[in-house]
Amino acid sequence: MSRPPTALTIAGSDSGGGAGLQADLKTFLACRVHGMTAVTAITAQHSRGVVRVYPVPGSFVAEQVVAVASDIGVDATKTGMLANREVVDAVVDVLGSVDVGPLVVDPVCASQHGDPLLEPGAVDALTSRLFPLAALVTPNLPEVKVLLGLEVRDRDGMREAARRLFDYGPRWVLVKGGHLDDPVAVDVLYDGESFNELSAPRHPSVHTHGSGDTLAAATTAALARGLDVPAAVAAGKEFITAAVEGSFALGSGRGPVGHFWRVRQ
Ligand code: PLP
Repeated sequence: MSRPPTALTIAGSDSGGGAGLQADLKTFLACRVHGMTAVTAITAQHSRGVVRVYPVPGSFVAEQVVAVASDIGVDATKTGMLANREVVDAVVDVLGSVDVGPLVVDPVCASQHGDPLLEPGAVDALTSRLFPLAALVTPNLPEVKVLLGLEVRDRDGMREAARRLFDYGPRWVLVKGGHLDDPVAVDVLYDGESFNELSAPRHPSVHTHGSGDTLAAATTAALARGLDVPAAVAAGKEFITAAVEGSFALGSGRGPVGHFWRVRQ
């Protein structure tokens, strides 16, 4: 059998298995892509929130990236939780020296419970140093607030956020509208010239832990398979829409989206 497409996630570990690199690996598998990891932080967390974060030294995050890129080969990469400035800087530096395919930056700042996953002092490095390397950045609306100080309330606001984030240098921006009070879940994709709206029916679930990671991972898997950014985002949206429909209760708090739906029984 020839080698399957490969994807690398540079992300934090969620001990509960619903988000972070665990969500990414499950999504890569469901999308028939060989998943690899560079772990940025280990978290102790359950369905009610993050208990503690143990960041990995930046130099060791970089070593993991070099190890897989230099031998196995990486067709596409995503970043998730980067924890602190040291890790962001190390990731930027290493991505300048190895080929890891198109890069999806999911600018993870906090969990849905409000637990911080990126120290405030790292936001600047994320936007000014990492965004210019990205084929695609995928902020949700709370992340837009942290990155731009912009409170988005409607589609016009989403387009304004996309324009301002595009100015940091990524080739595409996907502003996710899941937090708007809309009967459909609309995301706005922008390439500096035109806006493309992707909509899907909203499934009323509180069990959406890991939804941002999963969308970015499914999009990264599609890029690894050779799709262009608009087609990969459409594939990512299809995957997350079904995963939210397949979400389930777990523990006493917020359960995860379901990564099983594309895996045959
Ligand atoms: N833990 C880790 C390691 C993550 O990367 C993320 C999101 O990216 C979360 C927790 C939070 O996930 P959510 O906000 O979907 O609950």
